[in-house]
Amino acid sequence: MICSPATATRKLTCRYVLPTYDRFKLEILRGSGCRLWTETGRELLDFGAGIAVCSLGHAHPRVTEAVTKQAGQLVHASNLYYTRPQAELACRLVDIVGAEGKVFFCNSGSEANEGLIKLSRKFGNSSGNRYEIITFLGSFHGRTLANISATGQDRVKEGFSPLVSGFVHVPYGDLESTSAAIQPQTAAILVEPVQGEGGIHIPSKTFLQGLRALCDKHNLLLLFDEVQCGIGRTGKWCGWKSVGCDSVLPDGVSWAKGIANGFPLGAFWVSACTKGKMGPLCDLLGPGSHGSTYGGNPVSCVAALTVLRVIEEEQLLKNALELGALFCKKLRNISCPTITDIRALGLMVGVETKLEVPSNDQRTPAVRLADDLIREGLLAIPAGRQVLRFLPPLNVRQCEIEEAVEKLIQALSGQKACVSFS
Ligand code: PMP
Repeated sequence: MICSPATATRKLTCRYVLPTYDRFKLEILRGSGCRLWTETGRELLDFGAGIAVCSLGHAHPRVTEAVTKQAGQLVHASNLYYTRPQAELACRLVDIVGAEGKVFFCNSGSEANEGLIKLSRKFGNSSGNRYEIITFLGSFHGRTLANISATGQDRVKEGFSPLVSGFVHVPYGDLESTSAAIQPQTAAILVEPVQGEGGIHIPSKTFLQGLRALCDKHNLLLLFDEVQCGIGRTGKWCGWKSVGCDSVLPDGVSWAKGIANGFPLGAFWVSACTKGKMGPLCDLLGPGSHGSTYGGNPVSCVAALTVLRVIEEEQLLKNALELGALFCKKLRNISCPTITDIRALGLMVGVETKLEVPSNDQRTPAVRLADDLIREGLLAIPAGRQVLRFLPPLNVRQCEIEEAVEKLIQALSGQKACVSFS
């Protein structure tokens, strides 16, 4: 990491915070909607939304009002007792999946997936000696030891061996390889319905349908990691439904990121279906088997309830679909030889670039493009070496999409042979 501590905050961070992040040299002071302002007063159009987190944009007044009221009433009581926001949120999430089940609350996507991994072990151990989980190359499931083991990207695993055993990786979208990887010890398949960190990869509908069929045939759990693609990001509540798999019902689903507009909250849903001689799957993790001190705290839960309510009341799924399509159309109208592909579902948009980086420049092509965009006042987020993600809030407006495209064109116009037709 190149640390250039130009400001006091950067100096303090470099001196006292572990250098696990390669940060852009921006100090963010405040935000509103799609905009952020730095400590020097510079305005930025934020098409990262905190890595797909601020679904309603920054400092949304209804979220602010709800969490302020809740914070004045009760911040934490623990899961030894009942709290109303948690119960209501669980009910809403079951509704979003559209099938009977129950929800566990935690604080992050990693924890939500950790819960699904533990569910798989409990299920596998209860139905034989099964423990293995099939996951996919290019996937990302989080940073705990179990999740880096589950993740299908080597970069997150380097130096952390021995990893947690019991994960097998196969190519994303490849049903034949998935089928061939199923062994007597296999308990579950964990998959992102749309790959995010791997560079926005959208599978065919037959892939997810095929996974369901394989799980049914071999009595395996089908687990969807919706941490990045869930909660409306793709234009429907559920990423797998945007892929055209409305009728595919998973056994477990994890969420985090966009669920609470920046308040730490993760959750996973478990189906009420019965498997073989077992009772309902959602009762498998019984008292004492799993827990979280902060999980489902009332402040994060009211933030999430507000996010879900505003998405519904302001028809933001429709907005995500329509403005995602407009954004994508405008991006496709840019003719530039260094843009090699555009992949999008709703407001989950990936631009692949083969921008050349000089040999003395350690940045990836995606980071270089992100830096060029920052110069124009637009934030986007690298996903792997070559893809830049655009993940604006679900309430982004047409004028903001147009502004973002203008800024991208401006950034690209510094490159040779880049022509815009938009
Ligand atoms: N799963 C997916 C699909 C993700 O994109 C992420 C975060 N990038 C995670 C899990 C981990 O979430 P968290 O950082 O909240 O632990």
